[in-house]
Amino acid sequence: MSVYGQNHFTWNGTLRDLHGSYTGFCTGRGRPSMTATLSSSSGLEVLLSTLQNVGDVESTLNILSVLDELLSAGTDRRIHYMIKKGGSEALLTALVKYGHTFSPNYTILIPLLHLLAKVGHKDRRIGMKAEEAGAVLLTLNLLKHNGQHARRTAACLWVIQVFCSSVSTANLIGENYGLDVIYRLIPQYTTKHLHAIKAAINAFSALLCTKANVCSAVSKGYISGFLWLYEDWHSKDNQDVAIAIRHALLCCLLKATDSTAGRQAFLSQGGIRLLYQTAQTCLLSKNLECLVEPSVQLMRKCLPRIPLPVTSDQSAYSFLLPGTPAFPDVSETPDESSDESDAEEAEDNHEANNRDYDDDLETDVNKLRLPPDPDRPKELLTQYSCFCPELSHDFQELDLSSETGDSSTASSSSDDEVVLLNKDRTKTTAGRDSSTSDGSYSEMEISSRDMPAAAHLEACDFHSHSSILGTSPGFRTMVRGAMGEASPCQREDEQDNEEDGTEEFYHHTIIDRLLERHGAGIPHHDPKLYCAVASKTKSIPDFSILAFPDFWGHLPPPGHQPMAPRKPNIQRQKVFEDIQRFLKTDDIINHVVFDLEDSNLQCQSDSLRFFSKFESGNLRKAVQVRRYEYDLILNPDVNSSQHTQWFYFEVSNMAADVPYRFNVINCEKSNSQFNYGMQPVLYSVKEALEGRPHWIRTGTEICYFRNNFCPAQGRRRTTFYTLTFTITFKHSEDVCYLAYHYPYTYSALMAHLKILQKSVDPAKVFFKQQTLCSTLAGNSCPIVTITACPVSRRWKDLHQMRNRPYIVLTSRVHPGESNASWVMKGTLEFLCSNDLVAQSLREAFVFKVIPMLNPDGVINGTNRCDLNSKDLNRQWSKPDPLLSPTIYHTKGFLYYLNIIGRTPVVFCDYHGHSRKKNVFLYGCSIKETLWQSGSAVDTVGLKEDPGYRGLQTGTQEHQEMGMKFCHSLLSVTKDTRILYSRKLINHIDLDHNMLDHKSHNCFEDDEPPCAEEIEYSGGCPTLKGSDLDSDIDSNMAHVDDDDDKEHNAQKHQQDSISQSQQSSIKNHLFPPQTRQPSVDTPSERRDLRNGLSIAK
Ligand SMILES: [Zn+2]
Repeated sequence: MSVYGQNHFTWNGTLRDLHGSYTGFCTGRGRPSMTATLSSSSGLEVLLSTLQNVGDVESTLNILSVLDELLSAGTDRRIHYMIKKGGSEALLTALVKYGHTFSPNYTILIPLLHLLAKVGHKDRRIGMKAEEAGAVLLTLNLLKHNGQHARRTAACLWVIQVFCSSVSTANLIGENYGLDVIYRLIPQYTTKHLHAIKAAINAFSALLCTKANVCSAVSKGYISGFLWLYEDWHSKDNQDVAIAIRHALLCCLLKATDSTAGRQAFLSQGGIRLLYQTAQTCLLSKNLECLVEPSVQLMRKCLPRIPLPVTSDQSAYSFLLPGTPAFPDVSETPDESSDESDAEEAEDNHEANNRDYDDDLETDVNKLRLPPDPDRPKELLTQYSCFCPELSHDFQELDLSSETGDSSTASSSSDDEVVLLNKDRTKTTAGRDSSTSDGSYSEMEISSRDMPAAAHLEACDFHSHSSILGTSPGFRTMVRGAMGEASPCQREDEQDNEEDGTEEFYHHTIIDRLLERHGAGIPHHDPKLYCAVASKTKSIPDFSILAFPDFWGHLPPPGHQPMAPRKPNIQRQKVFEDIQRFLKTDDIINHVVFDLEDSNLQCQSDSLRFFSKFESGNLRKAVQVRRYEYDLILNPDVNSSQHTQWFYFEVSNMAADVPYRFNVINCEKSNSQFNYGMQPVLYSVKEALEGRPHWIRTGTEICYFRNNFCPAQGRRRTTFYTLTFTITFKHSEDVCYLAYHYPYTYSALMAHLKILQKSVDPAKVFFKQQTLCSTLAGNSCPIVTITACPVSRRWKDLHQMRNRPYIVLTSRVHPGESNASWVMKGTLEFLCSNDLVAQSLREAFVFKVIPMLNPDGVINGTNRCDLNSKDLNRQWSKPDPLLSPTIYHTKGFLYYLNIIGRTPVVFCDYHGHSRKKNVFLYGCSIKETLWQSGSAVDTVGLKEDPGYRGLQTGTQEHQEMGMKFCHSLLSVTKDTRILYSRKLINHIDLDHNMLDHKSHNCFEDDEPPCAEEIEYSGGCPTLKGSDLDSDIDSNMAHVDDDDDKEHNAQKHQQDSISQSQQSSIKNHLFPPQTRQPSVDTPSERRDLRNGLSIAK
């Protein structure tokens, strides 16, 4: 507590008395205007009015003292109340009055400036008000004349700092040489007047909020000046008494390097090396920890931007779209979400944030949208009738099977596939012949029946699918080595000269032998079937090689996998390593070891080898940076230059027990679950052959942060992020696969559906797979019907079956969200199972499942889009029949169900989420659903099952989620009798929605802010206990030799006023709602990086 001037008034407890006591010490000049305000003003207004009008020093000091006392004891609410009542203007008026004299009275000016800084700090319009009052240049002038008086200097500097919250005020000060005046106040290392020095640095920093001032500071060489000052203070401050000054200097440099010229000056003056060295010494002392973060931010910010080492920012894969005359120059029209300025827009929109959630609270019915009109004429919908075979199927086989007891014949009829005419459209001719691809489905043909899977396998010559059977070079080398044949390198050299046929035949025998010897017997997986299916899958690069894990299969590893712990300051350590690339180049190799677009690349014999030209693979380029460190560049989505996130590649030629650092350097999302305990997945061929065919979470020292790479062609102002992780391989000479998440290919789906179909009892389960449509690349998009066969062909049973409500499930519209496929796999396996709940569900519903809405994206390793570089999940409102066929026909099918009166009771689209954990549901707006449907809809709110918290979910958990989702569908059925009849009542507690079980609102507790700063473009990290107010307070308490001696005496007298008197003054000057310090505004924590705002 500190008070100015003598305080004579006594206080008896009422406002009226307060007015009275003021009149006692006001001069005659002040009295009339004060009287005028008496009737209508609050006590505070009276004080402020008096402050502007009184003439004598003593009264002014008294008022300042009271005001300061009131403000320093209360919360910010008091200051805001004072600002509302004209407090800033009153203080500015007083400043001009006392400052504009020939010999200013600093006994008044210093407390006045202090108060002004405190109030102005909270007043967003203080700069403008100061300009209007003519106080800006006056303060600068006072500063100029008081360079020798530390207290006065500090007081003026704080006010200038506060004024700079307005750009125009900062420019005004800059134009009047404010930068130069202030810079001259920052001396070399000293232990004196640290307050004033810090105030000068902070004021300089505040002036750098405008482009003009930054420009001027850079052109005048102040960057080199600040670097020199920082070095000086750093080297001499051995006792660490000036940490705050050193911190302030760094913050000043951070602001000064906001311009390109500033960063260049910083670089050319050796800023990076200086800060790297000083930061290293700071790391040795706990006291200096706070200087490391701004140093790191500054270095990251000023490191030169490096173009990605690729020839084009466009994807290595391009696709000729139907109806386009030539390859479009996509780079001319970048995706609307590509600009840096709308980073938020670039986030998944389906990752709804709080605002979306609150939209459901819309109370204005007029703002609710009307249901949109259908996007096509009704006549076009009849083509979808074929996708409801259960409505027309006569189940003749039921009689047959009951007569003969042979169920196998019953299955044949459901094997028919509806094949569309445009099935054979290939990628190369897709655009040239648009006449055959008009989206018309009027002509359909029934293909010859698929052979039952077992027969099919025997019939299909395993070896004839030679092209697809190939395995990657790394795998070949390894198995040869493992089987004791010629040394890998030697053998491969020879192989290159051999004829392809021999080569392939050789591999196939190897594969056969391996399968015989080590075959894993994975449920719902058959390697040979996978090969056969994969050979039909059409890809842009014409993949001829299978990734081993997809072919061999995967079994979930035993046990749960918890989140990986994050080492403290791991990002800082990685950033230091990255900065060293710039400072210390002697161990830098920078050798390209893999390039998707250059298959002739020669690798160093001791470098890792990479490969990604297989289904769902994504790795464009690998560069060996140091002996055990690799930069990896991902391939953007087809026909696009963005959406990099998904990766899946093979790595081989490793040494065991050596930590290899991998950096994926062109990630685009602003944050990642990799910062919160998620690890990439790894599959080891050696482990698989030893009986452990597992994708496992692996990697240490994982973090995700913004880097210094920029697009190769520089057309977009894209920001890239690095995902870095370190892998220590268990085996030497292994072949491993690394992926963002457990891969699930299109071929895996197609093989899985065949196996499922074989697995069901056709007398009980109606399982039918059809082709909804052909994709752009000519792959079929499957639609599956699952329901229970009728008990008999009697009308009653058929009627029951044909009147079951529909449930439509879709997934994998986003190719990078492979977890959605694993959940769907769990759903499908459960629905086809003999589980009692599954039987009940089949008897209660007809399931229509479209398990992969974006096959082409999945096949070609895209992350977000289809081949037309469009996010298919954004096409629902107006899907193009040619360019987004799967969406167009899925929507058409939903329309069809609607017009035949069979609107699905549940429609659920499975997704993955890159930044949220656990399992949760996004519902439609409840109000909008009610409004559009015109009926009461039973809605499940946004619920999360917290059961997987703290875990990195694996395929086991994903499949379980798919099963649990089915369980929850029981609650949708109205007819519970069916469940009772099944004695399910013991199983399932129907009154208890499974999802309600300990469920959370999934928005309530999301990620805490990341442990380290991912971005380097933000402001300077704040130093604890070093804010403006506490600086001012200590300046008040602190008395310099050069300033008024009477201050001490006044302070003593002031202290004699009792606490109770002061608090009663406050209580009468402020309205009740601003009095209680405890009644703070409910704070809203907003983490912009996550695009989430969490109201506490
Ligand atoms: Zn998605």
